[in-house]
Amino acid sequence: MKGRPDLATDDRRGLVLVMTGRGKGKTTAAVGQAIRAAGNGLSVKYFQFLKGTWNYGELDVLRSIPNLEVERMKTGFTWEPDRLEEDRALAAAMWRSARTAVLSREYDLVVLDDVNYLVHYRLLAIGEVLDLLRRRPSRVHVVLTGRSASPEILEAADQITEMTDVKHHFRSGVLAQSGIEY
Ligand code: ATP
Ligand code: MG
Repeated sequence: MKGRPDLATDDRRGLVLVMTGRGKGKTTAAVGQAIRAAGNGLSVKYFQFLKGTWNYGELDVLRSIPNLEVERMKTGFTWEPDRLEEDRALAAAMWRSARTAVLSREYDLVVLDDVNYLVHYRLLAIGEVLDLLRRRPSRVHVVLTGRSASPEILEAADQITEMTDVKHHFRSGVLAQSGIEY
């Protein structure tokens, strides 16, 4: 699909969008943003930085969308203290891929879903993220999600949305629901 001419003008200003906070909705907002961008002719790459045990069905749907590519980690982090180096290597490999995507000019919007966690748990140096945001081509939009976004990332952002956990069914004993949580 070709980009819409009105979106392909050179005056587009790439934005850094951050979705953070303790409430639910960060990943689903990023998925929505990716769909909107692709639907308007932008070329999108969506990176999922955390691989849980759940099947994230939304990623399969995203993969079926024209102009939209998805990359997720092949194995998850161990989160075991004595296997920290393995986790670091996993994070580094995924980060290299994301960095290449942002710098390549192949994509108009790159989603780094849950990347804030990696920085928070020191699997990825904050300097790497800031360096990439600084160097990115000026037309590229970048979305970063995850709780505990670091102050430096908030500083670098053009837009910050904080999800507030006002009420969550989990606390009344209702477990994660297919189609809602995963
Ligand atoms: P979603 O993927 O539903 O948009 P999220 O990206 O904001 O949520 P994460 O912080 O990535 O949430 O958490 C991962 C999982 O925990 C998701 O299944 C999410 O629905 C669930 N979750 C998010 N916030 C809460 C909360 N306040 N209490 C319990 N579970 C939550
Ligand atoms: Mg999430």
